[in-house]
Amino acid sequence: MMIPLGGGNEIGASAYLYMIGGKNILIDFGIRFNPEEPYPDPEFLKTLAPELDAIIITHAHIDHCGAFHIISSFYPETPVYTTFETAELLSVMVEDAIKVRYIGIEEEATSEYKLFDEAFLRIERKDFFSSIVIDNIEITLYPAGHILGAAAVLMKWEGKTLFHTGDISLKDQITVKGAVLPEEKIDYLIMESTYYYTKTEKTSGETLEESISRILSRKGKILIPVFALGRAQEIISIIKEGIKSGEIPPVNVYVDGLAREICNIYEHNIDREFFNFYIQPAPRYEGLSFEEACEENIREADIIVSTSGMLMENTPSHAYAKIIGKRGKNGIIFSGYLSEESFGFKLMKNRHQFKQFKCEILKHHLSAHSKREDLEKIRRILRPEKTILIHGYPGKHHKEHAANREVIYL
Ligand SMILES: [Zn+2]
Ligand SMILES: [Zn+2]
Repeated sequence: MMIPLGGGNEIGASAYLYMIGGKNILIDFGIRFNPEEPYPDPEFLKTLAPELDAIIITHAHIDHCGAFHIISSFYPETPVYTTFETAELLSVMVEDAIKVRYIGIEEEATSEYKLFDEAFLRIERKDFFSSIVIDNIEITLYPAGHILGAAAVLMKWEGKTLFHTGDISLKDQITVKGAVLPEEKIDYLIMESTYYYTKTEKTSGETLEESISRILSRKGKILIPVFALGRAQEIISIIKEGIKSGEIPPVNVYVDGLAREICNIYEHNIDREFFNFYIQPAPRYEGLSFEEACEENIREADIIVSTSGMLMENTPSHAYAKIIGKRGKNGIIFSGYLSEESFGFKLMKNRHQFKQFKCEILKHHLSAHSKREDLEKIRRILRPEKTILIHGYPGKHHKEHAANREVIYL
């Protein structure tokens, strides 16, 4: 059976317990943006599964790995499996998530950093397509597209096959190739559904390059809020290639926030450079407050690419937005998912309430997730007996979708 502890009928706090072939396997243990319940209840998991045989982390987005050190501390004997790239990325991502959670109470974070250091030592790094054998169960990680290092999980036991997609993109992106699917027929397909239920949003018909050029041509400055991992590297690549091809005029671009560090990890893993003469990490200034540094950077650069992607309060992109937003000729360009509680969502939806924001605000739809057609294509290729959808908002009851804490019999 399979039980989503989180990340069933929601996007956030992904954690799925599989009880198959007499073994207990946990896939992911992530966090959500809810300070009251930031991750699934470890005690509940402990009741369901006093022992775990393996913890598998699909990828380094914090909704999948942000609390893996917490759950690992409850199962100190259990190995944690993930890809080499994810292990490297998650050390930056999880440490940052801890830092954010303890803003203002930094001295209380020490014990959680300790849990993280201990859990990190339990990670066993795996190549794609190499097998993890736990008695009668064989587990293989498949490239899932999505972001660097992202894996889908194939599990085989007693003649049965199960494929857990994790976050998956069939299409190639600039920085990462599309997913590779197993060749064999699959009995159980557990599939993410981020965009399964949503209609493709209408856009203005402009490409991102065109929107950027249009705002620059009226001497406007641009803020592109981005997720640090994945989206930032795609956006920077689009701008870099746009400048090279002449679609975007040659202007200074500063990259700020956590995205800077993640770019460095991508660079040595995929042999691609993000920074050049035009595109630079935003400089730091001695003796200036962060707001003053933002003012200075906006004077120096015409485009700022900065985390967080949803303009959460107390993040660099939020500080930049307050300055860029003041002038009508400037623009803020969102590039993907905005959760309903984020400042970015509120600004897009009710912009008349934010009179201090006079700039143009627009949204482009870039995605590292498969759209509905591609999710259906995965199903056609794998021909499963049973499909279970997770990691999405099914709205009113949808018979294939698993809710949090629902027991799904396989
Ligand atoms: Zn993801
Ligand atoms: Zn996710």
